[in-house]
Amino acid sequence: MSDSDKLCPICGAGHLQPQVGKSPVEYKGQATELDLHFSVCDACGSEQSDAAQLRDNKRAMVAFKKQVDGLLTGAEVRALREKLGLSQADAAKVFGGGPVAFSKYESDDVAQSEAMDKLLRLAAEDTTIFDALARKAGVGQAVAWTNVDAAVIRSPVHRSDRPQLRVISSSTTEEEPHWSDAA
Ligand SMILES: [Zn+2]
Repeated sequence: MSDSDKLCPICGAGHLQPQVGKSPVEYKGQATELDLHFSVCDACGSEQSDAAQLRDNKRAMVAFKKQVDGLLTGAEVRALREKLGLSQADAAKVFGGGPVAFSKYESDDVAQSEAMDKLLRLAAEDTTIFDALARKAGVGQAVAWTNVDAAVIRSPVHRSDRPQLRVISSSTTEEEPHWSDAA
């Protein structure tokens, strides 16, 4: 790693050697060992973590907390978002959380709230809920329904057969006007 050529800021003579050790942690009564990233000076032996190592350590802890709390992991949030055909920015428009929320959820920088977690699961399970949220947010979508006849809309969702992926164009945000073509 690039850290190995860094001079030790403490003794100014040795070089920092990156290491990964196991660190026991506990959260809500559940214990585990997380990978702890740090560097050791090959001259004075002092241990220290730089910003990137601290970030990795924090992400490992957030991921563990998500697991204990029963929340979607970062990878699961990403998979769910991609299944819904959303960019990170559009996902934030649909579900809330702010413009960089999904980047942070997916990299385990922060844990999504329990409410956000439930909303994401619900939207992934029930496409009518997702469609309603996307419409309210003005994200994609509008075209898909305008020419679908009522029989198709009434038919139940066949979720188990195939994934309900649809093409979403984020540039199509305008609602159709009222039934202007009705006879
Ligand atoms: Zn040193």
